[in-house]
Amino acid sequence: GRIKEWKRKAKAAGRRPILAVAGCVAQAEGEEIPRRAPQVDIVFGPQVYHRLPEFVARAERETGGVIATDFPVEPKFDHLPSGAGPAAPAAYLSIQEGCDRFCTFCVVPYTRGAEYSRGTTAIEAEARRLVAQGAREITLLGQNVNAYHGAGPDGKPWRLGRLIAHLAGIDGLERLRYTTSHPVDMDEELIDAHASVPQLMPYLHLPVQSGSDQVLARMNRRHTARDYLEIVERLRAKRPDIALSSDFIVGFPGESEQDFAATLALVNEVTFAQAYSFKYSPRPGTPAALDDDQLAEPVKAERLALLQELLNAQQMAFNQGCVGQVQEVLFERAGRRAGQLVGRGPYMQAVHVHAPSSPASERIGTIVPVEIAAAHPNSLAGKTVTAGLKDGVPSKPPVVERCEPAREALS
Ligand code: SF4
Repeated sequence: GRIKEWKRKAKAAGRRPILAVAGCVAQAEGEEIPRRAPQVDIVFGPQVYHRLPEFVARAERETGGVIATDFPVEPKFDHLPSGAGPAAPAAYLSIQEGCDRFCTFCVVPYTRGAEYSRGTTAIEAEARRLVAQGAREITLLGQNVNAYHGAGPDGKPWRLGRLIAHLAGIDGLERLRYTTSHPVDMDEELIDAHASVPQLMPYLHLPVQSGSDQVLARMNRRHTARDYLEIVERLRAKRPDIALSSDFIVGFPGESEQDFAATLALVNEVTFAQAYSFKYSPRPGTPAALDDDQLAEPVKAERLALLQELLNAQQMAFNQGCVGQVQEVLFERAGRRAGQLVGRGPYMQAVHVHAPSSPASERIGTIVPVEIAAAHPNSLAGKTVTAGLKDGVPSKPPVVERCEPAREALS
């Protein structure tokens, strides 16, 4: 509605703004969007992002708008530009799309369709290209990335753990990550990769959504809170310094006080380094949206505030636990202040460093030991540590293996 007014003024000033609505809900709602909001010129779903230039050209030429919510069977990955310019130091690579899990709150299976995994050969070629163009870190992406089952060079399906081990062999690829995962698809091969592949960073985003078995069943998550805790235990047994992040939905239909208490209990048991938490909001066409047991907004808001208080305290404690340690930081960009560089450590926190002595352009894309001096709610600050000499031989300063939460901050 606010953009409608902006668009009217832009038109009055002689410009030709085009308003597009994109994404999963855009695909699900289709023609309903311009029916209710005629100022919208283009509605398109995630399967056809690669056709955006064509939609813009049509919207400029034609009246009546462009609705592109069809579901083409050809894999969209074939249409993505191969890209000739430099890659970001921390790049993304889509390996999987769609989802077969049908969580009752989620629109993705209806809008992005069944799971589709790219073949390993195409993924490896893209990873090599990204590295050749300057990427040092690659995050493998998918709606349910650990359900990956793409065809390997032998024609047989490879799971994600095997793919990660294979990609780790690419020269110059220093770091690997993957997101987003479903607990049920954390197979042994993938958990093992956290121990055996040094390039796989010790940080995992593993959504749990709720700590209550009753709510998890209503969400159709197909695992219990105990199952989740056991996966965390197995991961920590293999990679003791792994830091965890998660997603939470509070106020899901039918969530009782006891259910919410179970979520708080799970959070207390796991101790997260970071998390994303939301009030439940119905997505059109999903089973949970039709549930009669919807909770009142004030109840949801109160629970969310309580959960976020706990999660924020855990995040701050984790960040404080990093102070005094040396972390390897991949510099990604210049900061807002003069001489400032911003990068990421192994645990995904943004790390700010003041390094005016050399031009940022020379530092971006390098992985440098940084001594962490200060912790903030969402970031760290530190200074680079120069390699020293040990017994006449140049040596790197020790890189601390583990970032422990500062427990006193949680008490
Ligand atoms: Fe949606 Fe993730 Fe559940 Fe798939 S696994 S239905 S993408 S929430």
